[in-house]
Amino acid sequence: MQTECDVLITGGGLVGSTLAHALAQIPVSTVLVEEREPGRLEAPGFDDRSTALASASQRILDGLGLWDGVAGEAEPIRTIHISERGRFGASRILASREGVPALGHTVENRILTGTVWPKIREADAVTCMAPGSLEDFEVEASGVTARVSTGGSTRTIRARLLVAADGARSRVRGALGIGVRQDDYGQKGVILNCETENPHRGRAFERFTPTGPLAMLPLGRGRMSVVWTLPREEGDRIGALDDAPFRDALQKAFGYRLGRIRQVGARSAWPLHRVRADALTATRAVLVGNAAFSLHPVAGQGFNLALRDIAALSELICDARRDDADADPGAAALLDRYAEWRAADQRRIAGFTHGLMKLFTIDAAPLAVSRGLGLMAFDLVPGAKHWLARQAMGLGGRVSRLARGLRLTS
Ligand SMILES: Cc1cc2nc3c(=O)[nH]c(=O)nc-3n(C[C@H](O)[C@H](O)[C@H](O)COP(=O)(O)OP(=O)(O)OC[C@H]3O[C@@H](n4cnc5c(N)ncnc54)[C@H](O)[C@@H]3O)c2cc1C
Repeated sequence: MQTECDVLITGGGLVGSTLAHALAQIPVSTVLVEEREPGRLEAPGFDDRSTALASASQRILDGLGLWDGVAGEAEPIRTIHISERGRFGASRILASREGVPALGHTVENRILTGTVWPKIREADAVTCMAPGSLEDFEVEASGVTARVSTGGSTRTIRARLLVAADGARSRVRGALGIGVRQDDYGQKGVILNCETENPHRGRAFERFTPTGPLAMLPLGRGRMSVVWTLPREEGDRIGALDDAPFRDALQKAFGYRLGRIRQVGARSAWPLHRVRADALTATRAVLVGNAAFSLHPVAGQGFNLALRDIAALSELICDARRDDADADPGAAALLDRYAEWRAADQRRIAGFTHGLMKLFTIDAAPLAVSRGLGLMAFDLVPGAKHWLARQAMGLGGRVSRLARGLRLTS
């Protein structure tokens, strides 16, 4: 049995599922293949993983009709406090000074998944094959022919565009012959949620410690979401500590800005590397999300950047369809325009995250002094914080309709 569609998306994580939903607005016929069985709104737990969304991401989700499902559970970030442990210099980015109600929001991933999946399952333009797995495919000039195993049988899918949204170890990327550049930070990110004595009142903290950056983001139900970057062995050791010694270590690294740390949830430790694909597109194919780049989580930019990519790709397809109802979403000219549009933003965010990481993990004394001065200067130089705030809010460079708060089809 052969299924014909415009777009075949491999991978229904946060990125692939949101893209399928965006394409359904145009509408463009889409098949979404996901190995796991996602889509249930899971019951809340103390340890739910979360994502910090920039304000441009909020507008993109709003324009796609997804924000209503997320807003009630999203925790606004009103202040970002940047400091370095044991050194002079601290900086604050305030929503009020930027003239916005919030610099961003922290949202549990289960809320994002639980909002988008029911919509794509209902969308006429989207066929969900989940669980299903892309087995192999061939690319020809006119389209892609892929085999997908689902429900105990193999289906053949013929698509004009293949989207690789299959994560950092993307098999589709490999099969397309696109290489990757990988920088191993030699670190682990210890992830957890915790509860503190004092309420967070919308404050996020980015604290640079001698062993690596520690980010604490405000989360619903009075929790903080923690991403603690440590050298690999140290990350393994600290991640494996029992609750009480772990709490003490975290308290020592973070300090007492939120009073005592009362409860710490389950810890998971992730090896951290930067992975960048050598190309964003190939004949009849495009890479999005972690398949295209996987960033250090220190600046919480991966999904935000991917949302701007989704907004740009769907805008180009939407505009092409406006001129010609049967316009080809996999046409080489369209994919070239996409790669050209997105290259600068991707380079800027990847470079910024990487630079921040490098600057704050090299512990040479003169550099440490200049880091302290840098933070102070950053606080004093007019415009510098505003620039960073705009980047963090996802407002740098050419901005898509969705990121400007408009509908995709407007
Ligand atoms: C600790 C941590 C904290 C982070 N915090 C933030 C943050 O605060 N803000 C932010 O913007 N970003 C953050 N990120 C980054 C963000 O999580 C990623 O950018 C995002 O999850 C990427 O999603 P994805 O859909 O591209 O990939 P994935 O989530 O990896 O999804 C890929 C999907 O593809 C499926 N798949 C794979 N192969 C196949 C196949 N052959 N057939 C079918 N399906 C397949 C998999 O089952 C999977 O569901 C963080 C990342 C980490 C590690």
